[in-house]
Amino acid sequence: MNNKKKKLKVKCPTCKKETKWKDNPHRPFCSERCRTIDLGAWADGSYSLEAETPPDFEETE
Ligand SMILES: [Zn+2]
Repeated sequence: MNNKKKKLKVKCPTCKKETKWKDNPHRPFCSERCRTIDLGAWADGSYSLEAETPPDFEETE
């Protein structure tokens, strides 16, 4: 047997930060924010793949 402890850590898919797996309600994400970002990316990509942010800076006057 080796004494290498199993790392209960996982990399957050959103920010690539190492976060603990245990007692993490947002796993595999590090935080609710990253989870939301990821979900948002999925939802966003499903309907606006070719629709970039439209330039609407002409109505400033
Ligand atoms: Zn994160």
